[in-house]
Amino acid sequence: MAEAQFPTQLFINNEFVDAADGGTFEVFNPYDNSLLANVSEAKHEDIDRAVKAARDAFPAWANMSPSDRGVLIGKLADAIEKDRDNIALVESLDTGHPIRDTHNLDVMRTVATYRYFAGMPDKNEGTVIPVDTGFLNYVQRVPIGVVGQIVPWNFPLMFTSWKLGPALAAGNTVVMKQAELTPLSTLRVAELAREAGFPPGVINVVPGFGHTAGQYMAEHPGIDKISFTGSTVTGRKIVEASAGNLKRLQLELGGKGANIVFEDANIDAAVGGSAFAIFHNQGQACIAGSRLMLHESIADQFLEKFMALAASIKQGNPLDPSTEMGPLTSKMHQERVLSFCDVAKEQGGEILLGGRKPDDPALQKGCFVLPTIVKANSTSDRVCREEVFGPFVVVSTFNSDEEVLAQANDSIYGLGGGLWTNNLTRAHKVARAMESGMVWINCYKRFHPGSPFGGIKDSGYGREMGHFAMHEYTEPKSVWVNFDAKIPPFYPR
Ligand code: NAD
Repeated sequence: MAEAQFPTQLFINNEFVDAADGGTFEVFNPYDNSLLANVSEAKHEDIDRAVKAARDAFPAWANMSPSDRGVLIGKLADAIEKDRDNIALVESLDTGHPIRDTHNLDVMRTVATYRYFAGMPDKNEGTVIPVDTGFLNYVQRVPIGVVGQIVPWNFPLMFTSWKLGPALAAGNTVVMKQAELTPLSTLRVAELAREAGFPPGVINVVPGFGHTAGQYMAEHPGIDKISFTGSTVTGRKIVEASAGNLKRLQLELGGKGANIVFEDANIDAAVGGSAFAIFHNQGQACIAGSRLMLHESIADQFLEKFMALAASIKQGNPLDPSTEMGPLTSKMHQERVLSFCDVAKEQGGEILLGGRKPDDPALQKGCFVLPTIVKANSTSDRVCREEVFGPFVVVSTFNSDEEVLAQANDSIYGLGGGLWTNNLTRAHKVARAMESGMVWINCYKRFHPGSPFGGIKDSGYGREMGHFAMHEYTEPKSVWVNFDAKIPPFYPR
């Protein structure tokens, strides 16, 4: 297999540079915890340099013909597609995602997102408001300025496209900080963006730690907006830190997705879809269907099939094309996920499957957790309320639509949720009543560059994707023209 190609320095003003103090941090492969790279660590001085580069680049980028901006974003999509084998390898090494997923899903979804937003700059239309006679009032969507983007470790490559795509299409310049665990694919994207012809300073990538680089970005007076994806705890810190210059904020935070299976559902489809909902990406997904709610009358039948499927998921080296589930992304996270098995048991829950590391001697060095299915004692147990963010699903049962809706909505989170039924009326009624930004009926975890992605309640605010994202990255600017208005004097003399 070819050696993975990726840069390891900060990317500022189209150059790969060391950190001002020469500092680096280590990035590990979660499959065997071997060292993958020493990456330059951005601190305050480096963020200042990146913000200055982005600020200097902003006027020309914002005033470039929209279609020319689109051409560049399209070239970036082409470059990533051409680099598919390499960038999928980088992502699998860095995150532990199976190569079959990074190669077929993550890279291709990333390319599709850039392509979608490549077509957006010249469709970022404003409007004309029918105001008083004699006036023309037009509203343009203008870029916000320098945008700080802070990304988590669960889908680094894909989330980079969700954020860079609309921000650049709208005419903003960007300072992006990847999670300290997984900075490598974004550095490769930066390299490809330079080759594609992006002007210096439009995209800057500053890997570093949250409490230093991330916190400083949130406070920085030279950054006009922060788009953040990560935990609700960090989201709150960013709200506080951003008050100094009243930054615009977009917060994509945690989730605890309800996945409801009604008695009239197609059971086999629901079993497969529910396994994908929780076990894809090792359960490290904000929208994971981590609360599985089964109608009493089909619960036993469903669970038997669901457990058999979960037990058959093939764990292994992410680089093996037959691997269906890789390791979690870090040792610390592996321990955290496993600790929730004790939390479940302490509150009277029962581990129906998994709940530990796999026995396979070949997997002992990696951050693996077996697919885990837990029966909670009560839906108020901690495992039903807190986000575990691993291959860990908690099962409960219900007897009526009202009961399951109350269970589903009894959460601080409101990001994604699903339901399985063949009853059309029930499907739409329940979907409408679910307190969540996204609902999937007879499917789970579908998304598209055009469809809004984001949550309500403690899952944050703002939306990625589509025209919704273009609005997140622009301000409406209202311009009044008096072409024939008769304005009586306000101070008649
Ligand atoms: P995290 O909040 O710990 O870190 C996310 C990013 O924020 C990282 O880049 C980190 O370095 C940075 N950060 C940490 N502290 C910071 C601070 N004080 N100021 C500024 N930045 C800081 O989250 P995580 O553990 O990396 O990711 C998992 C979380 O992300 C889960 O809660 C998951 O649900 C959430 N998530 C949400 C979405 C969504 O779209 N809603 C998508 C994916 C993940």
